[in-house]
Amino acid sequence: MKTTGRVNGIISNIVIVKTDGAVGQNEICHVYCGTTRMMAEVIKVIGDEAYVQVFDSTRALKIGDRVEFEGHMLEATLAPGLLSRNYDGLQNDLEKMDGLFIARGSITDPIDFEKKWEYKPLAKVGDKVTAGAWLGEVQEQWVAHKIMVPFIMQGSYTVKSLAAEGSYKVTDTIATLQDTDGNEYPVTMVQKWPVKQAIRCFDEKPRPSRVMETGVRAIDTFNPLAEGGTGFIPGPFGAGKTVLQHAISKQAEADVIIIVACGERANEVVEIFAEFPELVDPHTGHKLMERTIIICNTSNMPVAAREASVYTGMTIGEYYRSMGLKVLVMADSTSRWAQALREMSNRLEELPGQDAFPMDLSAIISNFYARAGLVKLHNGHTGSVTFLGTVSPAGGNLKEPVTESTKKAARCFYALSQGRADSKRYPAIDPLESYSKYLEYPEVREYLDEHIEKNWVDAVYEGKTIVQRGKEANDQINILGDDGVPTEYHERFWKSELIDFVILQQDAFDAIDANCPTERQKMMYNMVLDICRKQFDFADFEECSQYFKSLINLFRQMNYSEWKSEQFDDYRRQIEKFVNDKSAK
Ligand code: ADP
Ligand code: MG
Repeated sequence: MKTTGRVNGIISNIVIVKTDGAVGQNEICHVYCGTTRMMAEVIKVIGDEAYVQVFDSTRALKIGDRVEFEGHMLEATLAPGLLSRNYDGLQNDLEKMDGLFIARGSITDPIDFEKKWEYKPLAKVGDKVTAGAWLGEVQEQWVAHKIMVPFIMQGSYTVKSLAAEGSYKVTDTIATLQDTDGNEYPVTMVQKWPVKQAIRCFDEKPRPSRVMETGVRAIDTFNPLAEGGTGFIPGPFGAGKTVLQHAISKQAEADVIIIVACGERANEVVEIFAEFPELVDPHTGHKLMERTIIICNTSNMPVAAREASVYTGMTIGEYYRSMGLKVLVMADSTSRWAQALREMSNRLEELPGQDAFPMDLSAIISNFYARAGLVKLHNGHTGSVTFLGTVSPAGGNLKEPVTESTKKAARCFYALSQGRADSKRYPAIDPLESYSKYLEYPEVREYLDEHIEKNWVDAVYEGKTIVQRGKEANDQINILGDDGVPTEYHERFWKSELIDFVILQQDAFDAIDANCPTERQKMMYNMVLDICRKQFDFADFEECSQYFKSLINLFRQMNYSEWKSEQFDDYRRQIEKFVNDKSAK
């Protein structure tokens, strides 16, 4: 018997329900407003009163309207057929709906329950299995989608029977498992998981040790993101957060990419829908959309549904990670999520924390980021969820609570600066403020030693120092004037500009420059660093600035040339000659 209740109070989309039985925190319920059935989530329970937040508009809802509790939390449906889909935060398929504007109370299936999949067993009858074990697989796009023992099945089981290789619907029974008491459980290809709870079926979570290529030089070369790592991009409006995330979602070296667009402008979201189906994954040559899942809540969707979207995205990420895949989850912007939390907490009249955010904002953000990570599965395979979120601090103030809390949780910090954006130095990642803690990990150092070249991390820090010293020199020049400082200061300044213009700046809209693979980054960086290590003797600051301007120009032409093309080699030779001629003097 389901617990039911009656509406007893309405505060915007928070509804107070008088219940006739037990309800649990975060339990899902449905509120009936006339013939419309709206989904809601319990966010507070006191005695027989439940406070539920409705994922929809509560317009026309009345005292006395009926509520039915479902006995479970907000769940994601996990099965073959998730890839390429566009969902809202509650996993409604947006393509089956009226575009981005979902009719009130409407619900669609998250996957196709009729489609047949070519299934191949991986386990054998008699195998001992636990939650997450791979029973079989189906080919989903180009991903070998593992059919796993449902994550909710606690304890160990014996495989009693297995379906033979063949084509099945996701709801067909593909295995029967027996527990130690002899009870049998049928397993299908569909499982459900409460989104706000981390999926935990792995042996250990080792520290990340590999670097995830994003094709963005300011990240890969200067502040690399680790596979299974976390990072965030704070930046004022218009600084390039969305452009940067889109670039990464197109280029990153991942098997599955999940883009959570929460509460940003609707037109931007439409752009992803329009652009993605055409694009090709640079690593595999497959259509990009085949590895992508988009979860989108635009700002015109109800606040409550926005809060759910980041959790739904993360849960789907953890699901694919359990198959031994590399998953990248991105959320734009997590500030909208935090604002949803704030609105909710304010409506509940909870004691507010800083800037009226909930008191436990920091814990909520940390717990969320902690779900990312590299995992070692029970079967020895590894999988990873890398998480990258943007934060849009009001007025670009990096001291506000969401930025501060996220800074504690994420290991990479890509601060977009208004100044850089204003002077069109894109991506506007501030080279001095930003950092990657992974550069300090011995495992990462070792990985880079092996995969790029020996002592790569030292070279990265050397470049950072050059940029820092260039800024100091520039400050002196600004105060004392061009003639008031030794030419050497100008040289220092221009060396940092060389790094900035050639390595850090990158045109996200150029077909070639947008994506810079690791091998190319290594070559470019070494070329630039070699020049920075040279001592030039310029007659005066004018000769110095002229020299570097020409050099930067040649490098930029090279950046816009196809890797290893004749044109590229031509620029490389011109640069080498240019440098040798000068140093030979
Ligand atoms: P935000 O999401 O931070 O509000 P956007 O990502 O929408 O900002 O970027 C705003 C504008 O800045 C873009 O429309 C584009 O013109 C410019 N821009 C940002 N990043 C780049 C880049 N890497 N290359 C070229 N232009 C960029
Ligand atoms: Mg944006």
